Amino acid sequence: MKDIKELTLKGLEEKLKSFGAQAYHARQIFSWIYKKAALDFGQMSDLPAGVRVKLKENFYINGLRIIKRLESSDGTRKLLLALKDANLIEAVIIPVKERVTGCVSAQVGCKWACSFCASGLSGFKRNLTCSEIIDEVLYLKKESLPRALTHLVFMGTGEPLDNYAQVLAAVKIINSPLGFNIGARRITLSTSGVIPGIQRLSGEGLQVELSVSLHAADDALRSKLMPVNKKYPLKDLIKTCKDYSARTNRQVTFEYILIKGVNSSLENARDLSRLLSGWKLAKVNLIPSNSISELKVEPPPRSDILLFKGCLVKHGVNTTLRRERGEDINAACGQLRLSYAKQ
Ligand code: SF4
Repeated sequence: MKDIKELTLKGLEEKLKSFGAQAYHARQIFSWIYKKAALDFGQMSDLPAGVRVKLKENFYINGLRIIKRLESSDGTRKLLLALKDANLIEAVIIPVKERVTGCVSAQVGCKWACSFCASGLSGFKRNLTCSEIIDEVLYLKKESLPRALTHLVFMGTGEPLDNYAQVLAAVKIINSPLGFNIGARRITLSTSGVIPGIQRLSGEGLQVELSVSLHAADDALRSKLMPVNKKYPLKDLIKTCKDYSARTNRQVTFEYILIKGVNSSLENARDLSRLLSGWKLAKVNLIPSNSISELKVEPPPRSDILLFKGCLVKHGVNTTLRRERGEDINAACGQLRLSYAKQ
């Protein structure tokens, strides 16, 4: 049995002809899979019964299994998915007003072991294939129905730029009119600051959004929170991001998780202002941390969050404050997998 999503349109047309079927069914099959999130050939009601049988005998659509599905009171839904080799990954869907955002994982585990992240706790296991990433999106698409899946972010488990080729291949399918048809500007690649990946991305000619997890504006604190900083320190990272925005004319978003007693003081806000002020194509997205009991992480009080934001705004830094969602279902990356593994 083969994964049907590994076939291009032309490849599927050829395959259909070899079954004695019409090539034009390939477009119908693409539409069933990517537009209607059909996970079973039996659902493809406008195909002749014989073609559906042939497809079923030769292919499968989705190689993942849902192990657990959690729904938060705010509408956020989180899926724990098993890969064919029994490794577990997470995908999240976040409906907010007219937007429905899917969040996918790019790796099983992660080698960077950020101190606030549950995904790093069990270390890196392997990269996901393009097909496995698309399987995640298919489940999210199905979850979003009858609403459209409007945005897609690579902010789940793993560092997407460490899995560059497979992630870029998936981005092209997510963006393609024959695929999920999600506009490039609605697809976000989120990196911990892997410089070679950012440099490579700047030459792709893609309109995707780049988001960089910063979380501290001085090297000592950032290296403590994010070991990636020892390899790619702030000065080099900021220069690379400025080169990226100069070359692509695209904004770079810096994610900053606010953690009580760690990186949320006014002093920390001033450091961040110094690092980014005067740079028009930079934006800071402040995110109060979820509480993660295993890591003794908790968000600062609301008053500290507002002081922090006020300091950035006063220094001319374009700043947004994101409301943390899915708190009651452990929506931060890696938390569901972790709690399941402990059962
Ligand atoms: S925050 Fe991202 S880069 Fe850091 S350990 Fe978690 S998944 Fe890896």
